[in-house]
Amino acid sequence: MFKIDGHLEVYNHHLFVGGVDSLELIKEYGSPLFVINEQRIRDNYRRYQGAFPDADIYYAVKANSNFSILRILAREGAGADVFSEGELYLALLAGIRKDKILFNGNSKTDHELKYAVETGVKVSVDSVDELKTLAAFAKESGKTIPIAFRVNPDVSPKTHPKIATGLATSKFGIPLEKIIEAYDMAQKLDTIEPVGIHCHIGSQILETTPFVEMTNKMMDLVEQIDRLGIKFEFVDLGSGLGIPYKKDEPAPTPQDLADAILPVFNERANAMGLHPRIILEPGRYITADATVLLTTVNMVKEAHKNFVGVDAGFNLLVRPAMYDSYHHVLVANKADLNSERLYTIAGPVCESGDILASDRELPVVEKGDVVAVLDTGAYGFSMSSQYNGRPRAPEVLITQRKTCIVREHENIDDLLTKQRLPPHLL
Ligand SMILES: *Cc1c(COP(=O)(O)O)cnc(C)c1O
Repeated sequence: MFKIDGHLEVYNHHLFVGGVDSLELIKEYGSPLFVINEQRIRDNYRRYQGAFPDADIYYAVKANSNFSILRILAREGAGADVFSEGELYLALLAGIRKDKILFNGNSKTDHELKYAVETGVKVSVDSVDELKTLAAFAKESGKTIPIAFRVNPDVSPKTHPKIATGLATSKFGIPLEKIIEAYDMAQKLDTIEPVGIHCHIGSQILETTPFVEMTNKMMDLVEQIDRLGIKFEFVDLGSGLGIPYKKDEPAPTPQDLADAILPVFNERANAMGLHPRIILEPGRYITADATVLLTTVNMVKEAHKNFVGVDAGFNLLVRPAMYDSYHHVLVANKADLNSERLYTIAGPVCESGDILASDRELPVVEKGDVVAVLDTGAYGFSMSSQYNGRPRAPEVLITQRKTCIVREHENIDDLLTKQRLPPHLL
């Protein structure tokens, strides 16, 4: 037996997840299948919290909003970063405390803002326009709403442009030069209580320097806003810590991140005599590597490349098509055999961009083999669709070597869910 990736094991040629044979899982639950290892989620969360013992960890629900995962994290004591009414609803229902939830969003509906007021969660306000709307709703219900502004710190991390969120040109947040004015305005509203400041510079960032730059910029603002007489309870530094999708690439750990930013934060906070709490909002780091997507080989063909056609495509994992992301793949039933050929793993969707992995060295692949796509727990299922008339795959949770279906397979009838024929077509 040998280990890969911290928590996956290979035994008798087979890939094991959480101590369970992936081939047995496919036999029992069918293919394709998302396999989630509960212990890995808990370990990731604890590693993050351990690196930042004095910070509040708000899990970014959008990474994976599976209800069992939210419940696991609620039991671990996590808070939640939510970006829609739906995510807020799920987080509360899962048992995440409302005082540990931040409602984020660059374009919240009136309905969402009313829901935020009703539930009493903190709101990360993205514009002055939103501030005014929120203040009016708060007034109607006689409440005072704790807010932070999301600031655009103008930091450019080296990541895919679609997931860099703190560039000066990004749609998120209030520009640096307008933020003081916004706090000044908020302070004067009697239904609004500015209690913090928030930013998030992007995702899948593999170096710590952008985080240090961001922390410094945030502390500059804390200093200026303090002069307005606003005492922050928290500074939310967002998230974005990447994971090593390419198994040979170095990736900073939460401890590396803590070692880089905590000294800066603490030194500057001490100099100001202020002690706001840090909030961090990891999504990917908590859930990505805890899930493996298993997908069965339908056919192999030698064409321009050696194509392996599998039964999962960008309907289930859009990251390669959307962000050119790399996901490590292996053949789950030949996991310890030598690589012999270059293969390109293609999904079944009717689009040439539906390629899960290009030019990978693998053992000889045949029809019926099972391909394991690693690190699919973040922005995997949560970005899935029924495109091309394909019901979504089930999710199975492994807990102490026991398995439990936590999301059923959609069936063909689900393709018709919520649809109606108009009378003239009946
Ligand atoms: C997406 C998002 C996160 C999570 O980012 P990861 O890179 O998955 O850790 C955190 N905060 C905000 C505001 C986000 O939009």
